[in-house]
Amino acid sequence: MTKHTSHEIDIVKSDTTKIDAVDFDNLTFGRTFTDHMFICDFENGEWQTPRIMPYQPMTMDPSARVFHYGQAVFEGMKAYKDDDGKVWLFRPIDNFNRINKSAARLAMPEFPEDYFMKGLTTLLQMDSAWVKPGKGNSLYIRPFIIATDPAISASPSNNYRFMIICAPAKAYYTGKIRVLIAEEYSRSANGGVGFAKAAGNYAAQFYPTSLAQEKGFQQVIWTDADTHERLEEAGTMNVFFRINDTLITAPLSDRILDGVTRRSIIQLAEDNGIEVQVRPITVTEIKEASKNGSLKEIFGAGTAVVISPISAFEHAEELFELPNIENSYADTLKDKMLSIQHNMAEDKHGWRYMV
Ligand code: PMP
Repeated sequence: MTKHTSHEIDIVKSDTTKIDAVDFDNLTFGRTFTDHMFICDFENGEWQTPRIMPYQPMTMDPSARVFHYGQAVFEGMKAYKDDDGKVWLFRPIDNFNRINKSAARLAMPEFPEDYFMKGLTTLLQMDSAWVKPGKGNSLYIRPFIIATDPAISASPSNNYRFMIICAPAKAYYTGKIRVLIAEEYSRSANGGVGFAKAAGNYAAQFYPTSLAQEKGFQQVIWTDADTHERLEEAGTMNVFFRINDTLITAPLSDRILDGVTRRSIIQLAEDNGIEVQVRPITVTEIKEASKNGSLKEIFGAGTAVVISPISAFEHAEELFELPNIENSYADTLKDKMLSIQHNMAEDKHGWRYMV
């Protein structure tokens, strides 16, 4: 555990709010931010007194290591408002644990749990007007840690900054997506950082994804770097396959992010009597299953859209279309997740956390 002494947060409240200028019906995801942000600096070997202040640009030395070596990790989580105006988080400790797992892999200091939870809940209480009720509406929360040391030697920083910023996100129907199975590029490798939410993982996905987009696919299904046979993730989501009535997803490894949605979907599927297999699944298997009609669904799972159904995939220049089915697992499980997140259904696993 990293040393820290203060439990208080220094708060500077914004005199004004930007909220009246925001058109909540026409939000571009991730471009509008709430009135406040949370900051905590790591200096002299310890996390300093955390602060909440008006959201604003910040200055940083051009030599700060984050700019040169990408020593940065982040999280993505959401807050939801129920019809009584109460604000809820979904499994926030899982995100807390994951950012520290990511931080450890990037040689960064762990952030203390009480700072994380207190900072997060205080920030959300101050900006609670930005969380809109209604199923699917949410406030996207972005905690992140960056290396701030002003020195460009290729070694870990001594100083870091932990921050939380929040962006309202509206309920949106994304439609089904078409995906290209990766045959050349990889997002992660054995012994690498695929399991971490390291900033560089995402930068490295942009180019292969843009090539897929030029071919008319929205996302890439990432395969293992050795054989490109094992199906591992879809874009920035974990991926599930339904063959007949069984739901299959790849086991976790150091190449795969341990998604909070993945974990929850596995549990909810089992709760609803759906057989789930966590095992390697290959390109050959789904191509055969598609040809013989047993491949019913493929969907991505992640915090941003909960579940993103896939309508078609391409591999080796061959296109495979998924059938349109009624009562899909994707629709059923997405609805169950949203109902729990918005306090509209029983939360038998204790996943909701009141702010
Ligand atoms: N895989 C990757 C690579 C991701 O970036 C994400 C988004 N965090 C996920 C899976 C889904 O994780 P979660 O359900 O925790 O959002």
